[in-house]
Amino acid sequence: MFDYEKHFADVITKVKDENRYRKFINLSRKVGNFPKATYQDQEVTVWCSNDYLGMGQHPAVLKAMEEAIRIYGAGSGGTRNISGTHAKIIELEAELADLHEKDAGLVFGSGYLCNQTVLATLGKIIPELVYFSDSLNHASMIEGIKHSRVERAIFEHNDLEHLEQLLQAYPLERPKMIVFEAVYSMDADLAPVKEICALAKKYGAMTYIDEVHAVGMYGSRGGGISDELGLSAELTIIQGTLAKAYGCLGGYITGSTSLIDAVRSFAPGFIFTTSITPALAAGAIASIKHLKNSSTEREQLLLRAKQLKTALDKYEIKFINEPSHIVPIIIGDAKLCQQLAEYLLLEHQIYVQAINYPTVPRGTERLRITPSPEHTEEMIEKFALAIKTFLNLGLATNKSATSSREQLI
Ligand code: PLP
Repeated sequence: MFDYEKHFADVITKVKDENRYRKFINLSRKVGNFPKATYQDQEVTVWCSNDYLGMGQHPAVLKAMEEAIRIYGAGSGGTRNISGTHAKIIELEAELADLHEKDAGLVFGSGYLCNQTVLATLGKIIPELVYFSDSLNHASMIEGIKHSRVERAIFEHNDLEHLEQLLQAYPLERPKMIVFEAVYSMDADLAPVKEICALAKKYGAMTYIDEVHAVGMYGSRGGGISDELGLSAELTIIQGTLAKAYGCLGGYITGSTSLIDAVRSFAPGFIFTTSITPALAAGAIASIKHLKNSSTEREQLLLRAKQLKTALDKYEIKFINEPSHIVPIIIGDAKLCQQLAEYLLLEHQIYVQAINYPTVPRGTERLRITPSPEHTEEMIEKFALAIKTFLNLGLATNKSATSSREQLI
């Protein structure tokens, strides 16, 4: 008979041999203490949170969630179709549509689920659709495209010439969709959104932009890179998350009324799952509203990112220098990257997660640093010096190469 336990143990041994066994760091965050947290009874400074602006602890967000729990209770009570549609989720969808200047919005349990189910569904409801997908797209989009079973063409990362060559290969009347991200979170670079929109227009393609690492962060109202560039109207679908800069949980798309209605009617990951809770929706609304009206957090974050880059330069630590708020430091070896992360945590009370394959390709293992408005200059200096101290031990060198992730399809 098949030895299931031995099989699981063997699988894990292989992952451990490749130095990519995931150890989860059990953190206790405490309201008012961002970006610090407690790990094994010690206070640590967190340098890899996706709660980019600390909105997960913002008083307006907490107040909205607490009030909503008292008024509406804990859960949502069902799927959207069967008793789970509530006033707060409807209000949230209207808020998101307004944020991205679209007719309508649709909320999902997470950004991952949203990408996966929307792309899989569009492929099923649009006959002969072809997906044009950036080679560095997130796993959730790759999964969605894969499950759609439609034809797909992968263009080299941010390579407009390659994208155009691929678009040219199909008749103008064939339905097409270009799928890409606004900010590539592991490499910190931005998509050429304007040029992609121009190509889409020329070849009759729809566009799907994942603004997960940009919503709340860019644009005068936090509508992302498309907001900052004034291109919201040009894009067919703007997708985002409530879990990163907005500090809550959930994913969404915004688009035309008929497109949203079609996805609402056919997407299994929307239909067959419980809707997000009223408290979550209320928290997200408060967070979006706050960041629509306040640019202080965004400006302070970009200042901190600049100060961090200056400190890394001072210590001659190489990093990928892109205009976004993310700062990747390439180590290029899974074991050394892990050792560096452990050294920072245990010796300097600095928590930054080592990023290994399959999140990034082998040989480009890295620390992905996410500063926040609340990181101080003192914390920045301490962080840069700690990395330099490790590098001075001669255990690891850091690499300047930018990465090109393996295509996971
Ligand atoms: N899209 C991108 C580009 C991401 O990096 C992530 C997650 O990190 C997601 C989508 C998934 O979003 P969520 O965390 O809301 O599931």
